[in-house]
Amino acid sequence: MSASHISQPKTAIATAPEPIKPSNFLRQIIESDLEHGTYAARCWGGSPGDAAHHDGKPDPAKIRTRFPPEPNGYLHIGHAKSICINFGLARDYGGVCHLRFDDTNPEKEDTEYVDSIVDAVRWLGFDWSQPGNDQPYQASDYFEFMYRAAEVLIQAGHAYVDEQTAEEMRLHRGDFGKPGSDSPFRNRSPGENLAKFRAMRAGTYPDGTMVLRAKIDMASPNINLRDPAIYRIRRATHHNTGDTWCIYPMYTYAHPIEDALEQITHSICTLEFEDQRPFYDWLLERLIEGGLLAAPPPRQYEFARLNLTYVITSKRKLASLVSEGKVAGWDDPRMPTIVGLRRRGFTPESLQLFAERIGVTKSDSWIDYATLEGCLREDLETKAYRGMAVLNPVKLVLTNWDEVMGPGHLEPCTQPALPHVPEGTTPPPPRHFTIGKAVWIEREDFEETPPKAYKRLYPGNTVRLKGGYVITCTGCSKDASGSIVEVYAHVIPDTKSGTPGSDRVKVKAAITWVGVADGVAAEVRLYDRLFLDAQPDAGGKDFMASLNPNSLLVRRAVVEPSLAQTLPDQKVQFERHGYFVADRHDHSMQRPVFNLAVGLKDSWGK
Ligand code: ATP
Ligand code: MG
Repeated sequence: MSASHISQPKTAIATAPEPIKPSNFLRQIIESDLEHGTYAARCWGGSPGDAAHHDGKPDPAKIRTRFPPEPNGYLHIGHAKSICINFGLARDYGGVCHLRFDDTNPEKEDTEYVDSIVDAVRWLGFDWSQPGNDQPYQASDYFEFMYRAAEVLIQAGHAYVDEQTAEEMRLHRGDFGKPGSDSPFRNRSPGENLAKFRAMRAGTYPDGTMVLRAKIDMASPNINLRDPAIYRIRRATHHNTGDTWCIYPMYTYAHPIEDALEQITHSICTLEFEDQRPFYDWLLERLIEGGLLAAPPPRQYEFARLNLTYVITSKRKLASLVSEGKVAGWDDPRMPTIVGLRRRGFTPESLQLFAERIGVTKSDSWIDYATLEGCLREDLETKAYRGMAVLNPVKLVLTNWDEVMGPGHLEPCTQPALPHVPEGTTPPPPRHFTIGKAVWIEREDFEETPPKAYKRLYPGNTVRLKGGYVITCTGCSKDASGSIVEVYAHVIPDTKSGTPGSDRVKVKAAITWVGVADGVAAEVRLYDRLFLDAQPDAGGKDFMASLNPNSLLVRRAVVEPSLAQTLPDQKVQFERHGYFVADRHDHSMQRPVFNLAVGLKDSWGK
């Protein structure tokens, strides 16, 4: 963050028309499906279910999308993109978006994460509830159906129990250049397979001794179709189903079924699932053939995941930052988690704007972190009340004050809380503060021997105290070590901002300040990027090695009274410094604590 420029930034007035939503390949697919009535005859039984459950009840929703996080960590900025895409498409096309916990993996999941995901989606401004149905869905509620579907596959000769070791299975799978070879267990009869599978469920066999595999094609050029495993034995307590199950479905098997039971039309995921799509389609076709699932099946579409410079977006890696104490928790304001971004001062609107702006594509790329910051700046520009704060204070004494203004006099000053309000809206009440004999100014606003082109305070120079008086610097006092203790100046009477003739003395700079009499001490946390490397974990790099040692600097600052009166989570602009947020957890009016959200202009690397 740089505090090197004095005057207020040019403030753009928000009169630009709402941009028309740019189209993208997903919008085109949906528009084409709506035009061709692809899903017009689809049914919805009011809750997820099989073909019989949905039968005969036309779906009032034109499309159904879903956001299916695994509850194994806090959501991050990449998930925010996915949330905005899925909920945004449903909203824009008369559809419904489901929030579904993809909780089929018993080991890593936790209700703490479930709650945090619910909060994050709501906070971003989205809602999954439908009439008579306000709970998010849980994939684990479908375990019984998934099991039934597996039995149907077995009976139709589409699945078999394989007792090869993991190593043998790996050896028989082949690779990109070499077809796989059949398992010796591949040609067991459906009856034998069914008995084995039922025994697997009953807990007859130890973990890892056998799996159920789809019977497709061991020579397929797509390795995902070489008889993928669809069930494994795993004795683990599940956060929803407890110890009911000792066999669990594999993700690639569970996910298409979850989509189909929920009558999803457009199942949107990231590109790494592209190779899974043939299996997704294969499985649903078999289950529709078997009469279990309703046609038409959902279709999977892939988009490029968000990669953001200076940021890592992997729950696992973010978890390691927390567990190794590199940050103060999942909601540390340096974390790209939704809770972290929120505590940092990001707004739902800024994240929605970001998702809109980066768009949806099918090719991977990196988005510049400055794009995200720009969206926040844009959102706060017209919303965040202004105020002055001195982050690195030194006392300025107006030595002629008592003489020209009266001993101990405090002069009231006012400034607008918002310099520009959108046309037709009433501006908020102005801020009030006072000026007296002593004020706090930024240490870097005084130079005893000014560098070239320096316009702020130096002996003999005249500047304005923003919103106050014009003053002429006379000198300073120093301690034994030569550091400056106080700066001295003369006040020029009758130059108070906003009074007639106040501009008769021309100045080249206006500096920010806070009165010693009414300023409030505050803790200000200056956050910077967590990593120094733009792609901290690309190509398997050790992201811990590029942690920025200066990602947090804590300042003892002084703020004007109106800033101290902000509520936790409220965003403000410290004039000239940037946008800050009153910390959600630590701020109080008695002991204000602010986090830097974003500087006034992009100063990274400059
Ligand atoms: P992580 O690797 O961080 O655990 P994930 O993909 O495993 O991420 P899920 O909980 O499975 O996390 O993801 C839920 C949804 O969010 C998925 O549809 C996934 O495609 C999407 N998603 C995850 N990360 C990103 C990202 N960086 N950009 C866009 N979408 C993402
Ligand atoms: Mg995942």
